[in-house]
Amino acid sequence: MSSSVAFKSFTGLRQSPAVVGPPPPSSTQLSLPNSLTTTSHRSRRSSSLQIAAALSSPTLPNRKLRVAVIGGGPAGGSAAETLAKGGIETYLIERKMDNCKPCGGAIPLCMVGEFDIPLDIIDRRVTKMKMISPSNVAVDIGRTLKPHEYIGMVRREVLDAYMRERAEKFGANVINGLFLKMDLPEKGSRNVESPYVLHYTEYDGTVGGTGQKRTLEVDAVIGADGANSRVAKSIGAGDYDYAIAFQERIKIPDEKMVYYENLAEMYVGDDVSPDFYGWVFPKSDHVAVGTGTVTHKGDIKKFQLATRNRAKDKILGGKIIRVEAHPIPEHPRPRRILDRVALVGDAAGYVTKCSGEGIYFAAKSGRMCAEAIVEGSGEGKRMVEESDLRKYLEKWDKAYWPTYKVLDVLQKVFYRSNPAREAFVEMCADEYVQKMTFDSYLYKRVVPGNPLEDLKLAVNTIGSLVRANALRREMEKLTL
Ligand SMILES: Cc1cc2nc3c(=O)[nH]c(=O)nc-3n(C[C@H](O)[C@H](O)[C@H](O)COP(=O)(O)OP(=O)(O)OC[C@H]3O[C@@H](n4cnc5c(N)ncnc54)[C@H](O)[C@@H]3O)c2cc1C
Repeated sequence: MSSSVAFKSFTGLRQSPAVVGPPPPSSTQLSLPNSLTTTSHRSRRSSSLQIAAALSSPTLPNRKLRVAVIGGGPAGGSAAETLAKGGIETYLIERKMDNCKPCGGAIPLCMVGEFDIPLDIIDRRVTKMKMISPSNVAVDIGRTLKPHEYIGMVRREVLDAYMRERAEKFGANVINGLFLKMDLPEKGSRNVESPYVLHYTEYDGTVGGTGQKRTLEVDAVIGADGANSRVAKSIGAGDYDYAIAFQERIKIPDEKMVYYENLAEMYVGDDVSPDFYGWVFPKSDHVAVGTGTVTHKGDIKKFQLATRNRAKDKILGGKIIRVEAHPIPEHPRPRRILDRVALVGDAAGYVTKCSGEGIYFAAKSGRMCAEAIVEGSGEGKRMVEESDLRKYLEKWDKAYWPTYKVLDVLQKVFYRSNPAREAFVEMCADEYVQKMTFDSYLYKRVVPGNPLEDLKLAVNTIGSLVRANALRREMEKLTL
């Protein structure tokens, strides 16, 4: 099967519907260099400033391409940094500079290197993972890790602030503001430079301050504003299914924290979630205990209680210091690009099934999208078009489709019933499975297997599933 056929058959990553583009460019215009304007003194470009340009020349003679990134999480921070480094006039709008995104904060090793994450912002290096089955059989994972390999645990308020500040150092204009809406360029306008006008409330850091209404004219927009993206709404990007994830930060006694020093736990079972897993992740001075579900959102508190109960001996004496919940997208939105607007990270819907991982994919998609803009604009010298932004989607789907597909299948097979979960945990004891899983997670690639080991694994998996189903039938007989 050719890769293009494979892409189309995977509805989770379906291509955005073709969008009829604007008429061919016939003119370009000069604009004032400072595009940041307020409603009171906004300097609308007058038609007198318009100059004729050659049909084939989309260059911007007197200014740089202006791009706004909405949202300063990992997707936004990395997009803004790449744009600013690439010579683009960059604006990053973030509503809350100390935002503590509800998140487990687990990042793969490759993110540390690829995104130059300083080691001192990684709270914990997890080298041991316990996978715990519905009947509380615990399997230790991590035996195959090499001495330098680990899963990083970060606090999101620290990581996000670091990535935003680095973007600022490279020249991005970081604005503390709440993006409200945007006016799209006039449809059918023959002016290829017709701007997007963003409306936002700018805060000056005053506690309780209501902020100032502002507008900003830009040539392109990257929506990195998370699962409830307003940018996605502005371009009619459509909805996605989502899981609701619930998490409690629990401060446990120091002697209990020793156990979680470099260890994380994953619990599976109908009690903790009908379609996901419960977790205990170590943070700087506490643990994060959480769970998620797509299918039974109304029961999330019941699942959380069950997760806490399963870990109760290890977190005994703990005090809940924070309770948080947030949606996790289940698959990409039907549309991820429209004209000169692109979605990245959670706004686009890039969280993997099965593991619920999205930090690396957010940062990576932000960077890829920004690279496509830098390249398409010749480092900010030319106007970009939808076709330039689409290069990011093509690259993204080609690189990550197999990862999403494999995890989607794994979730469907192994998270559907307790017998299947028992089989899953049993399978995780296999060193070959551990190596394949960790290599795929840590380095973000679907690792090609060893055919003989794959065959052995398939036989073992079927064996585990058959045994687990037989066990379930016996259990059912006992309870009748
Ligand atoms: C409970 C939970 C646990 C998770 N655990 C993990 C994990 O351990 N590892 C992992 O890899 N992933 C995890 N995820 C997923 C991960 O959190 C997301 O995939 C990731 O945060 C996506 O990054 P992002 O930059 O796309 O969006 P976000 O991190 O959501 O950032 C969006 C930013 O936009 C800002 N914003 C939103 N609206 C506006 C607006 N109108 N104007 C201005 N700013 C705006 C927000 O303040 C925020 O800073 C978890 C998710 C949840 C809910």
